[in-house]
Formats: sequence, structure tokens, C-alpha cells
Amino acid sequence: MGKKLRIGWFTFTCCEDSSIVFVEMMNKHYFEWKELLDFRHCKMLKSKNSFDQFDVAFVEGAISSDRDKAKLLEIRDKSRYLVAIGSCACTGGPSAQRNTFPEHLKAKIEPFLKKWDLYRDVLRLDQVVTVDEKVDGCPMMEQRFLQVLDKYLVEFGVKKGDAALPGARGE
Ligand code: SF4
Repeated sequence: MGKKLRIGWFTFTCCEDSSIVFVEMMNKHYFEWKELLDFRHCKMLKSKNSFDQFDVAFVEGAISSDRDKAKLLEIRDKSRYLVAIGSCACTGGPSAQRNTFPEHLKAKIEPFLKKWDLYRDVLRLDQVVTVDEKVDGCPMMEQRFLQVLDKYLVEFGVKKGDAALPGARGE
């Protein structure tokens, strides 16, 4: 069996639409990816997941609690590279909309923040950990995701650099 890229896919505060895009992309890429990727942790694909070491962790969503923050720090610790997936992870929003609520709306949501121990201000990933790459978009842009994936496949020697993944060049 050839070398595979050890990846993890994680989601935090968000609508998980980039996760849906990722799964939908497998309609086209599954048979190619299954030879290249070791899905160590990907809850939407598997019920038994490993949380050991990742070459690349793909992280969707924003950080809105100490629980999120602790988990993200753990992921960072176990990952050689960490990629922010989608606008919520890259910029905070739309998940961070409440950061700019007017005061009367902030007062209205305060009981809910207390009830679930949520931050008043939602954080983007790079406010908590080092982010190596960003795949922006709401949901993520497929071509950009393929470019980033391709870059790491080459860097880790899983594939040669002379032929980009199908779709990575926008064809
Ligand atoms: S970036 Fe958009 S699609 Fe992705 S989780 Fe946030 S709201 Fe949903």
C-alpha cells in the first residue's frame, strides 16, 4: 500500500456546510482520494475515529467556548499543518455575527451565553492557534481546497508535483 496523507476533519461553531461540500466532492473524487488519504478522524464518514497524529488537520467553524478552544489547541498539538476551512474559521463570520450586535441585542442573548458557557465574542481560528493555510468561502471554495490538498500531498511525498489533482487548476 502506498503512502497516504494522514488527515483529520473537525468542525466547531458553524453550520457545517463545508463538511457537506467535502462529502459531496467525494461523488467525483472518492476513488482517487481513498488511495491518497488516510481519514484518521472524520466523523461524518466514520464512527470509529483516531485522535493521534495528523499530517494535516482541516478545521471548519469558529471558536465560541473554552471547550472549543481546548479542543482546537489539542488538534494543533497533534497536527503538522492546520488548515482553516470556510469563512467562519478564516474570519469568524457569519458565526461571529453576535460580536457586532447592538447593545440591546447583546443583552437579549446574554442568558443563552451564560447557560451554555459561550464567549461573548466568537473567535476565528488564528486568534487561538497558528493557521498554516486558509480555504475561504461560505461554504469553502472547492478549487482552493483542492489546491491546498494538492500542495500537502506533494509536500508529504504522497503524489508527485507534476500533475495537479483533478479540479485543482479549475478545469
Ligand atoms: S463559512 Fe458559511 S458555510 Fe461555512 S460554516 Fe460558516 S456559515 Fe456555514
